[in-house]
Amino acid sequence: MDETLIDFKQLTLQETVEFMAGLDEKPFRARQARAWIFERGVSDFSAMSDLSKDFRHKLAQSARITQIKERARQVSADGTVKFLFELDDGHAIESVLIPDEKRRTLCVSTQVGCKLGCAFCLTGAGGFIRDLGAAEIIDQVIQARRLSPEGRVTNVVLMGMGEPLENYDNVLRALRVMTDEDFTIVGARRITLSTAGMANNIERLGREFPRVKLAVSLNACDDELRERLMPITRKYPLKRLIQALRAFPLPRGRRITLEYVMLAGVNDSMEDARKLIKIAKEFPSKINLIPYNAVPGAPFKRPAREVVEKFRKTVADAGLTAFIRDSRGADIMAACGQLHESQAGGVSAGV
Ligand code: SAH
Ligand code: SF4
Repeated sequence: MDETLIDFKQLTLQETVEFMAGLDEKPFRARQARAWIFERGVSDFSAMSDLSKDFRHKLAQSARITQIKERARQVSADGTVKFLFELDDGHAIESVLIPDEKRRTLCVSTQVGCKLGCAFCLTGAGGFIRDLGAAEIIDQVIQARRLSPEGRVTNVVLMGMGEPLENYDNVLRALRVMTDEDFTIVGARRITLSTAGMANNIERLGREFPRVKLAVSLNACDDELRERLMPITRKYPLKRLIQALRAFPLPRGRRITLEYVMLAGVNDSMEDARKLIKIAKEFPSKINLIPYNAVPGAPFKRPAREVVEKFRKTVADAGLTAFIRDSRGADIMAACGQLHESQAGGVSAGV
């Protein structure tokens, strides 16, 4: 694929209109082409049959349309579907479609691997390979929609492989395109961005795209423990993180989700619960307790159910909203923290 061509899948409506103007074409051409891409999932200009042959040819000479390719699919006993997508350079990412009664939520990756190396996360253990482009982020939704029998994705969570705020520009572009006014792929209120706590870019997001829902992987409530679990704490200590969260411009009624992976004997004591309560009261929040999912080679265990329940009750009794979020898809390694490129590695090795 010619990398010098403009990638149509990562242009906003406005940018597409400008692009058409550059080709001496009218603005409605932008909508026409975008309908093919974002509604019908077409990735080839030649298939855009309501455009003249000449025009299709002209487009193909100056633009391209990224498409990620499905290489494998696994379906969990609970209905969760894990897609393995291959990128143009042969690397691979995973996206997980989680259906429930009301929603069909896609968990989207933002990087191949992750730089942040959290001690409990398999993605982190695999190291970092590269950022995803905006089109590769967007296309996970388009392809999951196209490939699943129901043909729908109602919600998106940026909680797959990678740290979204480490790949800020591409993620912001993907958010803008996915929520664009003409062919909205998902509304901003149905998108959740989860971060390990990069305070500077939380502030930037607050200025540039505060409509998205924000989730923060807190996981520990003092710097010493958090540094051991999440090395990014050295750069952004809790005080700094909390300052950024307090300043985040929340729409009316909206709360910040605090994710808390529960690790037996590490962060599950009543003292930990009290520290969590204190932090959670600093800004409008709700708490998701995620019982740890086993990761090969990691020295952690999931706490007993009673411990998790007691922790939740303690937090809830303090007047906070707290849920236990059992991850879906653990039988196919699709649960939180279990996504990894080397499973995908089968791609280059095996296909
Ligand atoms: N990098 C972002 C988003 C991807 S991780 C972030 O860290 O927020 C998505 C969630 O999975 C995070 O809340 C993380 O704390 C959680 N997670 C990671 N490893 C896990 C594991 N082994 N068990 C349960 N949850 C895990
Ligand atoms: Fe990266 Fe998030 Fe995993 Fe930490 S938890 S290593 S930030 S993907």
